[in-house]
Amino acid sequence: GKITIAIDGYSSTGKSTIAKQLAKALDYVYVDTGAMYRAVTLFAMREGFIGGEKDYLEGLVNALPKVDLKFVYNKSLGFSEMYLNGENVEKEIRTLPVSQQVSKIATIEKVRLKLVGMQQEMGKKKGVVMDGRDIGTVVFPNAEFKIFMTASPETRAFRRYKELLDKGEKVSYKEVLKNVQTRDYIDSHREFSPLRKADDAIEFDNSDMGLKEQLERIYNFALR
Ligand code: C5P
Repeated sequence: GKITIAIDGYSSTGKSTIAKQLAKALDYVYVDTGAMYRAVTLFAMREGFIGGEKDYLEGLVNALPKVDLKFVYNKSLGFSEMYLNGENVEKEIRTLPVSQQVSKIATIEKVRLKLVGMQQEMGKKKGVVMDGRDIGTVVFPNAEFKIFMTASPETRAFRRYKELLDKGEKVSYKEVLKNVQTRDYIDSHREFSPLRKADDAIEFDNSDMGLKEQLERIYNFALR
């Protein structure tokens, strides 16, 4: 029968690429939980709760009931896109300015409670591949299959840097590396559900591995 697959790990380890492919191969639903934290962050930036002279995170917490998040499947793309209050924000949430604020937003307990609740709802039916930072530890501690992805910070930053360049963003490798390292630090040191490997997760370092090899290995594990 269908199972729940949890993929966690550091920033830009290629979790979403793997998760998407795995979901396609198994005919499962893919849920990108990072997109949800990113969309809340975009909302907070637009409302001036973060990114201005002074943060006003209490304002965000109070406004949380007004943050409506939805994944809408895009048939021609073959995956779901993130909608914030009815607007497709898929592109905007991937930009560096959002990446530079998201980990701070993700430290807020009320934000996490809201999103974890939604994620648990989405995963109720099984047959889900979910990627994030706390899926195997908090969202689905009983997931049948858990992967924890790692790679060297330089490898990850270089991949992300190329991605952003391809999308036409003007970024430097140095600032992307700094962002990856800062997010790792904040994500693994926050008070509420910090990033860590679940005891029963398989650790997977893909620093020196192409996509095909990664998929083959994980697929073999998953179907064993
Ligand atoms: O996965 P992605 O890099 O898009 O996630 C962006 C940020 O959202 C992470 O750096 C982390 O701060 C936060 N996040 C989280 N818990 C998750 C998914 C993402 O705290 N399950």
